[in-house]
Amino acid sequence: MTRESLVCGRRLVWRCDRCTGRLRKEAGRLRCETCERVICFDPANYWACAEGFEPPGFPDSRRRHLTEIENRHFWFPARRRLLASLLERHVPRSSTSRGAIELGCGTGDFLQVLSGMFESVVGVEAYGQSLAVAAEGDSTAVLIQSDATTVPLDSGQFDLVAALDVLEHVEPRSFLEEAARLAKPAGRLLVSVPAFPSLWSPLDEAAGHRCRYRLPDLVRQLAAYGWRVVHHTHYQALLFPVVWLARRFSTSRVRRLERRPSDAIAIPFGMINQLEVSLFGGLRLPWGSSLIVVAERIPTIRSAA
Ligand SMILES: [Zn+2]
Repeated sequence: MTRESLVCGRRLVWRCDRCTGRLRKEAGRLRCETCERVICFDPANYWACAEGFEPPGFPDSRRRHLTEIENRHFWFPARRRLLASLLERHVPRSSTSRGAIELGCGTGDFLQVLSGMFESVVGVEAYGQSLAVAAEGDSTAVLIQSDATTVPLDSGQFDLVAALDVLEHVEPRSFLEEAARLAKPAGRLLVSVPAFPSLWSPLDEAAGHRCRYRLPDLVRQLAAYGWRVVHHTHYQALLFPVVWLARRFSTSRVRRLERRPSDAIAIPFGMINQLEVSLFGGLRLPWGSSLIVVAERIPTIRSAA
């Protein structure tokens, strides 16, 4: 991948995150025409817009753990397939140049899926170390290190905003309103969150979760901040009884196994998740350990100027 393809985002319109002035591209950096703010392109191949920013609710240890297990934990592969199939079914193909942005893209696992489906893709993440890993992956996404509630891009540019297991870490209002600002008028939001408060365990605390969601609570929250749900389902429905028992009778050994399952667990559980997506991926499953929603931007909500 060339540096130019990483930097380009030729169709992107940039906007200052401090004063909303227009950002002009110069060699290797962006400069605000109004307040002179400068955003540099980091040697690790991302736009460094949030140097020193330490977002609350996502502990370092958790981030390192995720980087380590992503692609290996049985939870990820079938979930990735389910999310991709939901995008195929629920994101309209009307636009000629389709764009997607993932808020909280982490090490870029899902950016690779988005890059196969959308013409232009942007990944936003607060942690530069995660973006440096994402930049080494196969996606052609433009990567921006930024607070997800003040993204340095102009309004109304994206057919899809994805927020995968992010909402439970952040203040929902500013996050969802920023997602609505970035979306095109009939743009879609793809959200996944941990489901069912009854599954709450020390693992949620360690992960920095604010809460686990029930569907009605998520629907209400999305509606309050600019989004109408068009599809919902749950993931890990077949394994739900196992997860429930593991959380209910949570011991340190069980928690360790949940965080780092042995092959004897990971292989059959991974197959069960794949089977679930193959058989029921198009249905609205009423239970599971994750809640997944596709929402449409409510046109009457005006995005911030
Ligand atoms: Zn500015």
